[in-house]
Amino acid sequence: MERVRAEYREEPCKSALNRVKGMGFSWSLNPYMGCVHQCTFCYVRAFELRADRPFDDRYGTSIRVKINIAEVLRRELARPRWEHETVAIGAATDPYQPAEGRYRLTRTCIEALLEAHNPFAIITRGPLILRDLDVLQEASRRADVRVTFSVPTLDDEIWRKTEPGTAPPRQRLRVLKRLVDGGINAAVGMAPILPGISDKPELLRDVVKAARDAGATGLWANVLNLRPGTREHFMAHLVQDWPEEAERYERLYGRRAYLGKDVTGPVQTTVADLKREYGVSDRRRKRLGPPPEPEQLSLAV
Ligand code: SF4
Repeated sequence: MERVRAEYREEPCKSALNRVKGMGFSWSLNPYMGCVHQCTFCYVRAFELRADRPFDDRYGTSIRVKINIAEVLRRELARPRWEHETVAIGAATDPYQPAEGRYRLTRTCIEALLEAHNPFAIITRGPLILRDLDVLQEASRRADVRVTFSVPTLDDEIWRKTEPGTAPPRQRLRVLKRLVDGGINAAVGMAPILPGISDKPELLRDVVKAARDAGATGLWANVLNLRPGTREHFMAHLVQDWPEEAERYERLYGRRAYLGKDVTGPVQTTVADLKREYGVSDRRRKRLGPPPEPEQLSLAV
């Protein structure tokens, strides 16, 4: 596995929580900016282009480390107007990329969230999350905590070519199992699925079956989208790694970033069928959540 040499810029931040629109959650938190995992399909490249920052091979070679983020987060969570909405950690970078081993910013942010009894959701490809099992358990006792491991494929060749800096997918699933055994609500996100490459039914089946074996509490899938920034970089690597697919991608994506239901529908249907077949569901033996609300009596009117 190839690791890029990155420079780390320790820069304090003024705010920790970011307001988000159109993403399925309202607040995000990113202790780092930039990601050394350098996935060829990384959707953050599109944000980088819009922010006029490098989105090509230079993306992930300079990481901003928000050294004071936990302190700022504590202040923001204590504001009287804060409504304790769910905070998504890792929407624009992997919060368990290697820098976290040294800086422990994600961990201290989780500590701040657990002190505030605030719900949060983490998305990662980093096995380092296992180090924080203790704080994740403590947080899960006080609020809703969800972890999603991104595992788009178990195929070695596809993984190596598209995710040059991440841990092997099976290692992620081993960690997921340890989290679930520890009572954490941890699901698998099969994203992104690459048309013609990782969408073959047998490859999808491998992931769903392995996710089930690992005890994943849920599973979802998304097909690759290619917005400007991500598109140029991904296509350059596609031409290099799977030249025979280049024409299909040009035709499929044309001028659009998101594929239509004609392409995504069959993938979603296959994954849904596999989920049903293998019975992927929340089967945790250990439950850490806060006690359920007393049941409301429903009165017939
Ligand atoms: S791990 Fe996530 S944030 Fe990091 S490069 Fe890959 S897709 Fe982008």
